[in-house]
Amino acid sequence: MNQERAIWVVGDYRNYFQNRVTLQLLAKAGELAAKMDGTVCAVVMGHGVEEWVGEYQAHGAQRIYVMDHPLLSEYLPGLFARALESLARQRRPEIILIGATSFGKELAARAASRLGTGLTADCVDLYLDQEGRFVQVAPAYGGNLLAEIVFPRHRPQMATVRPGAFAEMPHDASARAEIIRLDPPAGLSGDGVRLVSCRRLGYQGEDLENAKVVICGGRGLGSRKKFKNLHELARLLGGEVGATRPVVHADWAEEERLVGQAGKHIKPRLLFSLGVSGAIQHTAGIADPEFTIAVNKNPLAVMMQKADVAIKADAHQVALALIRELKARGSS
Ligand SMILES: Cc1cc2nc3c(=O)[nH]c(=O)nc-3n(C[C@H](O)[C@H](O)[C@H](O)COP(=O)(O)OP(=O)(O)OC[C@H]3O[C@@H](n4cnc5c(N)ncnc54)[C@H](O)[C@@H]3O)c2cc1C
Repeated sequence: MNQERAIWVVGDYRNYFQNRVTLQLLAKAGELAAKMDGTVCAVVMGHGVEEWVGEYQAHGAQRIYVMDHPLLSEYLPGLFARALESLARQRRPEIILIGATSFGKELAARAASRLGTGLTADCVDLYLDQEGRFVQVAPAYGGNLLAEIVFPRHRPQMATVRPGAFAEMPHDASARAEIIRLDPPAGLSGDGVRLVSCRRLGYQGEDLENAKVVICGGRGLGSRKKFKNLHELARLLGGEVGATRPVVHADWAEEERLVGQAGKHIKPRLLFSLGVSGAIQHTAGIADPEFTIAVNKNPLAVMMQKADVAIKADAHQVALALIRELKARGSS
């Protein structure tokens, strides 16, 4: 019997936006673990997942269970639930937390049922009461009241938590976690469900790498709908649209538009960088533009420091104003 009181956070890393909730949960798990003398563990299941191991290590995980296998390269709820069940049966965590994303809701319910334990869905807060019980706070009766739920007997105690309920910790590149690599359980299969194919629609536009004008959008644009305006701006300026990795992961833009270390290398004469922080992996793909205009709410963002003209403003509003102005001047 494992005496350790471990709090597990299951990584939802399918894109950067969903991943935020995992980082938020790691921060909360750290707070709870400090009070109950527990250990914060992240669980990473998939294939080619090293990036996320590093990310969770830098955000408070003290131990990371990594199940990296080709069988897990595509997410299938049945498969992942069985893998999580087997891991939990072996290691016996006290608490399992998962973000209340579509991935987390699906996975947590299946895993809880397989483990014969309960699940509090959609929590908005978590705390330890005076008796040290783990209290899960979740809206009930259509959000008209908040229920405080405790599990007196069943373990692990499982909860999904709404994104945004907690703040993540700052990235600490010097943090080190114990990394435990595991194979998937023998005979793992996905409840008879098989993924036949998975395909993203390709980008058909002009070659981004040779474009003289590039409008590059980042997470600061806020939504896919707002990002779409960049295409209109690019059309008016005779340029191409580039994107950062979070934007591509969120499916606001096609993978072929990714600019940076893992994507296209661009060499525009004019670069418009909207809502982009300027991470080294991104700027590594930009060769010395003649002129750079950056728009960011944060004047200290690297991209703002690098720009010839730095505009401290909302990126979407600036994009709309430019489109209006260019149209008024007859560029359309
Ligand atoms: C191995 C590896 C390879 C990678 N390769 C790449 C790569 O090839 N390309 C790439 O892009 N990334 C890559 N990354 C990811 C990279 O580290 C950054 O996470 C990413 O570039 C950040 O994208 P972003 O600037 O859109 O988002 P963020 O870093 O979140 O920045 C968003 C910016 O928007 C600003 N903002 C917020 N709201 C507004 C608003 N309303 N108006 C204006 N500004 C606003 C914020 O101040 C912030 O500066 C890689 C990472 C790893 C680990």
